[in-house]
Amino acid sequence: MDCDVLIVGAGNAAFCAALAARERGASVLVLERAPKEESGGNTRFTAGAFRVAYDGVADLRALMPDLSEAEIANSDFGSYPEARYFDDMGRLTDYRCDPDLTEILIRRSKATLLWMRDKGVRFQPMFGRQAFKVDGKMKFWGGLAVEAWGGGPGLSEALFGAAERAGIDVRTGARATALVHDDDGVHGVRARIAGRTTEVRARAVVLACGGFEANPEWRARYLGPGWDLAKVRGTRFNTGDGIRMALEIGAAAAGNWSGCHAVGWERNAPEFGDLGVGDLFQKHSYPLGIMVNALGQRFLDEGADFRNYTYAKYGRIILEQPGQFAWQVFDAKAIPLLRDEYRIKQVTKVTADTLEDLVARLDGVDGAAALETIRAYNAAVRADAPFDPSVKDGRCTEGLAVPKSNWANTIDAPPFEAYAVTCGITFTFGGLRIDTEARVMDDDLVPIPGLYAAGELVGGLFYSNYPGGTGLMAGAVFGRIAGASAADQAVGPGAPAGGGGGAS
Ligand SMILES: Cc1cc2nc3c(=O)[nH]c(=O)nc-3n(C[C@H](O)[C@H](O)[C@H](O)COP(=O)(O)OP(=O)(O)OC[C@H]3O[C@@H](n4cnc5c(N)ncnc54)[C@H](O)[C@@H]3O)c2cc1C
Repeated sequence: MDCDVLIVGAGNAAFCAALAARERGASVLVLERAPKEESGGNTRFTAGAFRVAYDGVADLRALMPDLSEAEIANSDFGSYPEARYFDDMGRLTDYRCDPDLTEILIRRSKATLLWMRDKGVRFQPMFGRQAFKVDGKMKFWGGLAVEAWGGGPGLSEALFGAAERAGIDVRTGARATALVHDDDGVHGVRARIAGRTTEVRARAVVLACGGFEANPEWRARYLGPGWDLAKVRGTRFNTGDGIRMALEIGAAAAGNWSGCHAVGWERNAPEFGDLGVGDLFQKHSYPLGIMVNALGQRFLDEGADFRNYTYAKYGRIILEQPGQFAWQVFDAKAIPLLRDEYRIKQVTKVTADTLEDLVARLDGVDGAAALETIRAYNAAVRADAPFDPSVKDGRCTEGLAVPKSNWANTIDAPPFEAYAVTCGITFTFGGLRIDTEARVMDDDLVPIPGLYAAGELVGGLFYSNYPGGTGLMAGAVFGRIAGASAADQAVGPGAPAGGGGGAS
């Protein structure tokens, strides 16, 4: 099984690394901890949304050659220039995001997706979740217009397929447990494969095996008390192995170790993600309604910004509520606009024709207080700005301790619906320190020879919050760089694209 470049993990970052190393002529072996049927990491659970900079429809057309004339005529894709991407990354992370890594992420986003397209990954516009119909046209909002064909499962299948075509050897049920390391650097991993502990030698190793979101002990240790109680939105296999292995040989930690991406998630969802349900346990239409906690009170501004700029930090706020839950409340005006995930059968939902009946059915909630909250909210809604979900419409409340800044409609048209949510953790923000070539740095900030990293286990990009669609984009950009850097070390720079054999 020895190879030039060994990749740990089989998600988006791992396969981008594997494909980049392979096209430079390296023999590549991928070790995936999960069994085949659960393989593919968090990547497989995603919507496949990629936050890519684009200047207009011509850029999108290059990426999605299937885009038809009718789709173009009936859509307002707008643009998402690099400057706005920089603003979003800075604004959402309180300007803590690493400037060099952020610059690479943004400036290489478009070229990286074109490269993935050439490897066989197809993309499509996110009509379903990122566009509202305005004046007869589908109007995109929030800087997010592109998703992989078939969402996360489609992306994962395309990447496995591309790896197979490229002659990359993928072993599932193969858990890396330690790095083989001496004074000259990293020379492979120790791994448990089919129940046996084996040493796999490699000239370079790329760690792309996720964060520690599925490790309750590390969650409580690093994110803080209560985080052991969060539900895991994705794979159960991301328990921080890659981070631990690298720290054990002196790698530097980086980024927001007490921070993570967490959202409102079905209250009675299982402990880990369910591939049959995918991301549909999430409940992301809260900007169209209000949320109340066990005390019957609102506790955040549901309309502070577009959904994809607030959802990743609101899971933490839900976790902080008594009993770690909340109910999202909507009326008949909002119900037709709710996202697809509200219509699955695995929801904790109540309906009623009066607000009195509705609040009485909100399990665990002080109903009288909830009714008072809804009445006060209704009285505070300013009706002078027209409602428009495709822009920040400024239709807000006035005089409430907890305001709603946009999309504030009264909740008064029956039938009423409410959905119970808790906190679902997506991925952790803290991880390993890398340089601009995706080399893992040691505590003295010197690269560790032979060790590279990409994806969720890299720290330094996200702090406190996160713009939706950036995880896959960052994994792809830095995965590609990590694979190329690893191949350059293993077989020398400038090796012929596509040359060499598979893992031997
Ligand atoms: C429900 C959900 C929806 C999401 N939607 C989006 C979205 O639409 N857009 C977006 O940008 N991001 C989204 N994300 C975030 C996104 O999943 C991640 O940013 C991205 O997929 C991470 O890719 P990765 O390759 O770093 O990790 P993963 O895809 O998680 O891959 C890690 C891999 O490492 C393997 N592994 C772990 N430990 C070991 C070990 N010791 N040895 C070998 N293998 C190991 C795992 O089995 C897994 O295959 C979503 C996440 C979830 C959970």
